[in-house]
Amino acid sequence: MSEKGYRGIIQKYKKLLPVTDKTPVITLNEGNTPLIYAGYLSKLAGKNIEVYLKYEGLNPTGSFKDRGMTLAISKACEEKSTAVMCASTGNTSASSAAYAARAGIKCIVLIPSGAIALGKLSQALIHGAKVLAIKGNFDAALDLAKEITRRYPIKLVNSLNPYRIEGQKTASFEICDYLGEAPDFQVMPVGNAGNITAYWKGYKEYKALGLSGKLPVMLGFQAKGAAPIVRNKPVKDPQTLATAIRIGNPASWKTAIEARDESKGLIDLVSDAEILQAYKILAVKEGVFAEPASAASIAGLLKLIKKGYFKNKKCRIACILTGHGLKDPERAIKSVKPPKLIRANFKSIIKEIGY
Ligand SMILES: *Cc1c(COP(=O)(O)O)cnc(C)c1O
Repeated sequence: MSEKGYRGIIQKYKKLLPVTDKTPVITLNEGNTPLIYAGYLSKLAGKNIEVYLKYEGLNPTGSFKDRGMTLAISKACEEKSTAVMCASTGNTSASSAAYAARAGIKCIVLIPSGAIALGKLSQALIHGAKVLAIKGNFDAALDLAKEITRRYPIKLVNSLNPYRIEGQKTASFEICDYLGEAPDFQVMPVGNAGNITAYWKGYKEYKALGLSGKLPVMLGFQAKGAAPIVRNKPVKDPQTLATAIRIGNPASWKTAIEARDESKGLIDLVSDAEILQAYKILAVKEGVFAEPASAASIAGLLKLIKKGYFKNKKCRIACILTGHGLKDPERAIKSVKPPKLIRANFKSIIKEIGY
């Protein structure tokens, strides 16, 4: 039986990825996520401005990490690896656990103890990964994962693995395919900085192939308590409620700066209060539920709008929503009032809803 229809980013963008007919394709049909027009944010931004949301939370494990993971795990299988390892703030562990399960290989993940969202932890565990919570932060976990995979026959699947970046660049291809060319601006969160590196690489490749007439200006945002690139020095004890970007010493620091400078963009910071406000606006005004790290994109957009950055411009802005809101249900519950408890009768309900 031949498989029909969409089968993930490797099948879709084979010619632009480092694969051959011999590469075993381990896929969960990741990618092909919607670029949603954001009416409220567009209006807020200005008359001639269109804001779009690239909803990466709709990937199979709920984050953009799946784009890189399908390629990293497929290549690991092609190279006959039988085990993979990663350090993770959560989503990489969820994604590697799922793709390794599908490939039938072993997955070991190192997470900072007590610092990853509940949804992500449940994913890594249910897919059967060996999950080790270390008494240290993400940066310490990554150093350990690097050393272990250097000394043992285990493949590192953090974004230092070049196949992760290669897979993730397909998100910019999709945005260009959808809009007909690159957007004028792209706003995104920056943690370990693999994703901004990947998007920029993808946009440049599409332009070189004549598939986009232009390149976007790259606008990255870090959390105030975890903003090493903005402060131009590593942060020893990074702090933010946006756990996916709680990183003090980004692995792809240099290439993130290249993306910023080559595109004449910026990497700035947003506070946790701004992230939470954006998180709620996104959910209430646009109907889109993204995790707090993803809301850093929107917090950044709102900050730039307030500063007049887009004033009198006619432009399209793509905001990357990196992960699904259900990843971190505890944060959602903490951010709102609990449901009101009332008696189970007709009158009480009518009274409450104001009819
Ligand atoms: C991994 C991740 C990020 C940060 O991406 P980097 O490539 O580390 O900069 C942002 N948001 C979410 C939801 C993530 O999972």
